This record gives sequence, structure tokens and C-alpha cells, in this order.
Amino acid sequence: MRVAIVGAGIAGLSTAWSLTKLGHDVTLIEQGSIPNSLAASGDRHRMIRRAYGDADGYAQTIAEAFDSWDMLWDDLGVSHYANCGVLGISQLAGDGAEQFRIGLDRMGFEYERLNPQEAAERYPFLDAATFRYAYLDHDGGALFSERIAHDLKAWLRMRGVDIRMHTKAVSIDPHTASAHFEDGTSVCADRLVVTAGAWTLRLFPALAENLVIYRNAVAYLAPPADLESAWSNAPAIVDIGGSSDGYVLPPIDGIGLKFGAGVLKKPVPDAETERVPVAGEGERLRQLFAPPFTRIDEYAVTEVKTCAYTFTADQRFFSKRIGKTLVVSACSGHGYKFGAAVGQRVAHALETDDDAALAQWLRAETA
Ligand SMILES: Cc1cc2nc3c(=O)[nH]c(=O)nc-3n(C[C@H](O)[C@H](O)[C@H](O)COP(=O)(O)OP(=O)(O)OC[C@H]3O[C@@H](n4cnc5c(N)ncnc54)[C@H](O)[C@@H]3O)c2cc1C
Repeated sequence: MRVAIVGAGIAGLSTAWSLTKLGHDVTLIEQGSIPNSLAASGDRHRMIRRAYGDADGYAQTIAEAFDSWDMLWDDLGVSHYANCGVLGISQLAGDGAEQFRIGLDRMGFEYERLNPQEAAERYPFLDAATFRYAYLDHDGGALFSERIAHDLKAWLRMRGVDIRMHTKAVSIDPHTASAHFEDGTSVCADRLVVTAGAWTLRLFPALAENLVIYRNAVAYLAPPADLESAWSNAPAIVDIGGSSDGYVLPPIDGIGLKFGAGVLKKPVPDAETERVPVAGEGERLRQLFAPPFTRIDEYAVTEVKTCAYTFTADQRFFSKRIGKTLVVSACSGHGYKFGAAVGQRVAHALETDDDAALAQWLRAETA
């Protein structure tokens, strides 16, 4: 089968990987470079965690996510995963961190519970007076997304995949599985997969009834010198507690300490709206992290990176078959960890024509 894929974020790259392994003829089209720093997948690291709050379906699917990454590491000959563990910090009864912990309990996933003094001793960047408890899940950590994209691109090239970077699809004919480009050329395949992330609505405006684009920003920070070694051994932090939806990716392997906060996301009309960081944006984001962090003003903001991503109303992943074309959006701010598994599932759906099973899996509607 000839399959063209529009969009080479993690969903497009992993679909190309899976289809190539199954012997299909793949063309991968990307409007920028691979990785594309404007894409949701185009950052240095993303978290993989078992804690999923009340979204039990995704918690149950996480074992498949880990297995699929292991298959990818086998193929690439290198792992781009750091199993540094995942910490939650509850400041208030019922806050996001507590919801994540309750989800771990419901799933029977074991974790280590720490009182504030124990946690602050182990992680000296924490202020013990500002939170109720912390918990550490030893499974989970960071996926190095830029390295994954570089290596997947090389792997696909070695196997003869037709990779077209800096090639923007300006329109799609879903019924003929054709993508038309800015320079007037086009590609026509047996099947088309559109994994265009936050740009999906440019190609399929009618999907605005399913997908909403949000803009957010993350900040990379340099901690005070005497806290550097504490951070270098730190876990990922799924939720800092309170009301900010704040999370942290640790500076493993020189890749940078990153803070992000769900509370700062805002709806935008287009993937490229407000992509230049606003003055002081990193410092405002940083302030959300005290409490529970101590000495927050001593962290220097070294880079602010904006991003655009799509959400569905119920924050489940989305797919829709239109003619010979499959549109897939596995995001809602939590899709990277499933990236390798998404590619395998999409490839399987193309072979079996079982779009319903794919949609059910993407929505984590387990039996
Ligand atoms: C700030 C932030 C933090 C996140 N944190 C986590 C996390 O910790 N863990 C987690 O699991 N998930 C996380 N996510 C979600 C995760 O990043 C996304 O679910 C995932 O990266 C989506 O991948 P994608 O391939 O669907 O989209 P994208 O990565 O956006 O890829 C889409 C690609 O399509 C290309 N494209 C678009 N239109 C066209 C066109 N017309 N022609 C050619 N190419 C086109 C784009 O250039 C882009 O490269 C986070 C997201 C954000 C934004």
C-alpha cells in the first residue's frame, strides 16, 4: 500500500516507522524541518507517567505505551528514555497532585509516599512548609523528543522512505488521498494520514467542532548553583499541587530544567498565533512554582518556548476517517507518551480498515 503522511511530529514519524516495518511504501511530508521546533513534539523532552487522575483508560494503556517505546529503542539501537521517576506534590486537599495519586491507588500502581520533611531532605529545592505530602512513582520519567525525531528520521531515510521536509500541504482531497503543495505539485497515494497537530484545522476547518487550538509556553531555567546537583538527580514532577497545573522536566543529560503550567494555556485561532514569547513571560511562569519550590527568584530564565496544541472537549485523542484519509490528533496536552503506540495502532487500522477500533483505542475506551 502507498501511504502519504502529512505532518512529521511524533504521530506522523511513528506511523511512518510502523508502516515501513509492515512493508508499505511511505511518503512523509513536513512543512518545516524534522524535528520542527514549532510542533508540539518539537521540544527537548516530554513526560511519560502512569499517574492519570480519573482517566483510567489511559492509565490502563500506559503499559502498551512503554512496550511500544521499547520496540522503537530496539529498532533505533538506542533508548531515548530516562527512567528518573515521577513525583507529585500535594499542597491542597483535592488538588491536581492528589487526584493523580488517587488514580495511582485505584489502578493499584505502587509509589513511595513522603512527608514534607522527607521530601525536602531528598529534594532540597522544595520548601517543606508549603505542602502536605509528596509521592514518588519509580516508573516513568522523560522521553527525549528531539533526539527521537532525529533518530527516527535517519531510520526512515535508511529504509528508503520518501521524506519531504519544507513541503507544506495547502489542501487535501481526502477522497483521492491527495495532498497538494505550495509549489503546485501534489502527492497521490492509496491512503493518506493527516497528523498535522495544531495545523489540522487549516486543512480541515470543519473539524473545529472537535478540536480547539491552544497556545502555551514553557520556560527553561538555570537553578541556583548550590541546587544544581539536587536537580540533576531529580524526578519529573507531574503536578506541583495548588491550582497552577504546574509540572517540571528535570535537566537530565544536560538537556535543561523545564517548567510548564496548564493554567496558562489559552485558546487561539491558529497554530502560529503569538508564537513569539512576550517580555517577562518566563518570569511570570516561574513565579507559579513558589510554593512549593524555595528561592524561586534565584532561578534564571534561559529560554521561553511557545507551543500550539489541540484539545478535544473531553481531552481524549481524536481520529476521523474521511474517504481514503485518516485524520489523527493524539494530543490534548498528553499524547507524546503514547507516540510510538499511536503509530502502531494507526498502521494497524490502515491495514485492517478498522477505524472504529482505532478511535476506541485513541479514546482509551477500554472494555
Ligand atoms: C507544552 C506542552 C507540553 C506537553 N507535555 C507533554 C508531556 O509531558 N507528555 C505527553 O505525553 N504529552 C505532552 N504534550 C503533548 C504532546 O506534545 C503532543 O500530544 C504530541 O507532541 C502531538 O504530536 P503530533 O505529532 O500529533 O503533533 P505535532 O508534534 O504538532 O506535529 C504536527 C506536525 O505536522 C506538521 N504539519 C502541520 N501542517 C502541515 C502541512 N500542511 N504540511 C506539512 N506538514 C504539516 C507540523 O509542522 C508538525 O511538525 C505536551 C504538549 C505541549 C504543547
